[in-house]
Amino acid sequence: MVTEPQLSVCLSFDFDAMSVWIAETDNPAEISRGEFGPYAMPRILALLEKKDITATFFVPGHTALAYPRSVCAIRDAGHEIGHHGWVHENPAPLGKDGERDVFQRGLDALEAVAGVRPLGYRSPSGDFTLTTVDLLLEHGMLYESSCCGSDFLPYYLRQGDRWSKTGPYEFGRPIDLVEMPMSWALDDFPLMEFSVGWSTEQTAPSTVREIWQGEFDYAHAHVPGGVFILTCHPQVIGRGSRLLMLEGLIDHMRAQPGVVFEPMHAYAERWRADHPLKEWTLSESTQVGQAASNE
Ligand SMILES: [Zn+2]
Repeated sequence: MVTEPQLSVCLSFDFDAMSVWIAETDNPAEISRGEFGPYAMPRILALLEKKDITATFFVPGHTALAYPRSVCAIRDAGHEIGHHGWVHENPAPLGKDGERDVFQRGLDALEAVAGVRPLGYRSPSGDFTLTTVDLLLEHGMLYESSCCGSDFLPYYLRQGDRWSKTGPYEFGRPIDLVEMPMSWALDDFPLMEFSVGWSTEQTAPSTVREIWQGEFDYAHAHVPGGVFILTCHPQVIGRGSRLLMLEGLIDHMRAQPGVVFEPMHAYAERWRADHPLKEWTLSESTQVGQAASNE
């Protein structure tokens, strides 16, 4: 008899390299912080191999062109590669056509370097527009992972939401695009990386483990069939003290009953098959919008 896992763990790594800094600065020393990502990549791949974990790496096109060998090493180790923009840009100021252009450039680079067509997308720094959903549907994406409407259960994204500062929120209609929710509390960057004007935290790995393990333990106890998604960055988590912490957390999670590690597309595919959009929309899902169901 095949039993559903009690909790799935998806380890995700945003392989930003220099792209995340180029979007912010022209200072070469600052930009070089991104070089630590590919430098630490062998350590991260070795840890995943040692623990027999298949993970998900979101890669901007700019990173793929700068570090093709690293990206091919990720692919060759069997990990999933997802779309993460072109050069970690915020698409909002680019307009619809500009966003479409950088979305395509990112895809083209991943295809040229590694021959992959991603099933999933995570927007750079969570920067998302109403056009983003249109692009994801056009390109046949299975899932998205930038929104925060739940924690340990996916949901279907909506298209056509409208809001203003003077009227009630208007919910659009759910669409066939699975949201694999992210959380800034489960992201290594704001917790542990110093960045002027954005995050000045230098939280001890032991404290980060307390937060992450507490979230995991809650999910394991209270959300059967759920998914625990961790967002790490090779240039952040790749430091020794943090990598040791992650290894300890992996060991803790693996020691719990019914826990499996899997790439994000595998969980999203299973969840979508088990929760057809039509039935899910008719359920009591908060993400459909309570105001709409009260009419
Ligand atoms: Zn990123």
